[in-house]
Amino acid sequence: MTNFTNFRFEVDSDGIAVATWDMPNRSMNVITPEVMEELSAIVEKVAADEAIKGCVITSGKETFSGGADLTMLQGLGAQYDKLAKEKGEEEAMSFFFEQSRGLSLLYRRLETCGKPFAAAIHGTCLGGAFELALACHHRVLSDSDATRVGLPEIKVGLFPGAGGTQRVARLMQTGDALQMLFKGEQVRALMARNMGLAHQVAPRDGLVQAAKEWIKGGGSAVAPWDAKGFKLPSNKVYSAAGMQIWPAANAIYRRETQDNYPAAYAILEAVYQGLQLPMDQALKVESRWFAKILRSKEAAAMIRTLFVSMQELNKGARRPKEVPPTKIRKVGVVGAGFMGASIAYVSANAGLEVVLIDKDIEAAEKGKAHSHKLVSDQIMKGRAKTADRDALLARITPSATYESLADCDLVIEAVFEDPKVKAEVIAKVEAAIRPDCIFASNTSTLPISGLAKTSKNPAGFIGIHFFSPVEKMMLVEIIMGKETGDTALATALDFVRTIKKTPIVVNDSRGFFANRCVLAYILEGHLMLIEGVPPAMIENAGKQAGMPVGPLSLNDEVGVDLGLKILRATKAQLGDAAVIPGQEALLTRMVDGDGRLGRKNRKGFYDYPEGAPKRLWGGLKELQATHVDGETLDMSELKHRLLVTQALEAARTVEEGVITDPREADVGSILGFGFAPFTGGALSYIDFMGVKRFVELCRSLQAKHGDRFAPPKILLDMAESGDTFYSRAGSRKAA
Ligand code: NAD
Repeated sequence: MTNFTNFRFEVDSDGIAVATWDMPNRSMNVITPEVMEELSAIVEKVAADEAIKGCVITSGKETFSGGADLTMLQGLGAQYDKLAKEKGEEEAMSFFFEQSRGLSLLYRRLETCGKPFAAAIHGTCLGGAFELALACHHRVLSDSDATRVGLPEIKVGLFPGAGGTQRVARLMQTGDALQMLFKGEQVRALMARNMGLAHQVAPRDGLVQAAKEWIKGGGSAVAPWDAKGFKLPSNKVYSAAGMQIWPAANAIYRRETQDNYPAAYAILEAVYQGLQLPMDQALKVESRWFAKILRSKEAAAMIRTLFVSMQELNKGARRPKEVPPTKIRKVGVVGAGFMGASIAYVSANAGLEVVLIDKDIEAAEKGKAHSHKLVSDQIMKGRAKTADRDALLARITPSATYESLADCDLVIEAVFEDPKVKAEVIAKVEAAIRPDCIFASNTSTLPISGLAKTSKNPAGFIGIHFFSPVEKMMLVEIIMGKETGDTALATALDFVRTIKKTPIVVNDSRGFFANRCVLAYILEGHLMLIEGVPPAMIENAGKQAGMPVGPLSLNDEVGVDLGLKILRATKAQLGDAAVIPGQEALLTRMVDGDGRLGRKNRKGFYDYPEGAPKRLWGGLKELQATHVDGETLDMSELKHRLLVTQALEAARTVEEGVITDPREADVGSILGFGFAPFTGGALSYIDFMGVKRFVELCRSLQAKHGDRFAPPKILLDMAESGDTFYSRAGSRKAA
């Protein structure tokens, strides 16, 4: 037995080696420079030792591996910049190319070393780890529900650069391969085998044995694409069949990415060029694209926000250190309506005991039935078992009496959005709970400090703001009232961690963070409509800018009437000047005049006919006083307006101290409302554009469209000092 730090290496009496990847002091295996070094030594040992017939690679952890350490790639970028400054671009680029293809070369060496390698995989095996498996000559997956394989690199602005694009495109039809690479989805074991990504599915405890048997049975050490007579699954690129694929592939690429993701374009190129070359050259092409993409600002922005920052926030970056871990066992949810029922479900699903209260037991039972429906759907899809449903439902106790909250550690209210109702509920809850129980409100519009005024314990009062649909949305805003204490914050963060969502901590303000930006986006859509921009163009501009849906469509989802309600509340509290009369007139006409409330009544900016796709409402034209010819409009200006208005709002939340950490605005904007992910989020959008340029852009929009585009002082100061949101935050932390 030879020992490595990150692998256990054993050879059995049949001469079959097993390399068990099991990194010390880490819960997960991850590809690091040391892992690469040791893997390389293992490959060389297997190749050189005549007594070794072949090698199985498996994991000693609960799961296989999540892939490469992205901070390692981030470090490479920093080295590039340093070298470029010291020795020039050319030298830096060649260093970067050689470094960034290290993993690809290592895997290719494994594939061509002359001995068969088999991967035995249980749990998740993603990114660079799955590329390792793809380079092995045989892949056995465990039949467990926990097993997933996939190449999710595209989600952080990268693409699989260690052979993934080439091997997948040689295992599957080109169209399917592109789809998989573009989407970055995780695939379960049986599906992976059916797709041709794995050879065998076996029970977990027989995995390594199955892989060994394959080697013992004379498994080939030659990859299919290195064997004579290999045929590409979709035939040669320059064949009649092969050529049919590319126009469609181009169209799918454009539809899915709006040309905003250089990594997706690189996938298209790497596969197209690579399939015309033998493997070694194909890998070189892939590596060239990889080095280029790794240096793109989109990859830098996405890695920072969607990998590094998100991980930091998930691990409790904002949690007050001095508060010891709270032990949340039982949660009370008051209000078993649309939101409350779902909050009860996600809590019970995470293993917490839940007391679900409504005005009467029937309403509470109805809320619990929502969980029954959600788990049943999971069972139908094969993602849960009947026993899981029984256990989950047993954890939810419906009730109509507040005394049932007596031993809760945290209570979340989700009753009607009415300060009077809330005050009443707060009093009833506080009379029933332990003094150390934390009280949270899920209000979306009422300031937490105001609600806390009716509380006996404002230090234990906090906002936990969920987004709908709760089951799907990964973001939760934690709202700090003026008097909210550290224990309440720690408890709220621990709770969000338990239900496996991502928290951002914001200070109290009207609309908190996410909804402020969302409303700005929707407002801009309304104003374009009023100006006479063709509605379809407004929606396309939103999507082309990188938003998941256009502003009018988004308004339909949240409810046109809700938009009007918020506008009227704002006007009542802040005065006439706080609202734009044109928007008020538009919404009043839609809601009060035409009864168009949005998707909920199948009539909003769109019509939602039964059994047919939604379509823009024909009557919108009549709401427009003028009609601008689309040909005369500048699409890039429309796109800018839609993103800039949100980024400006985000900048204002920083200026006002609502957001205190740029990571939270960035992560929150992508997870909360899908702010163009390739930008890295609403503040990174400004940072990567350069504050100076952003301010100029604001000024030109202000001149044409009004003072809502006026850059706030914080941006003027930053443009002057050369700061970015992240450099400001960094220097504050260091101070
Ligand atoms: P809802 O009307 O669907 O549910 C409210 C529930 O509270 C009802 O079941 C009602 O019977 C119950 N209730 C009312 N008064 C009560 C009382 N005194 N005691 C016990 N139960 C009482 O409303 P919803 O959409 O679930 O919204 C609830 C809260 O969540 C609101 O504060 C809202 O602002 C907030 N919120 C809503 C959304 C959303 O998308 N709907 C998103 C985030 C936050």
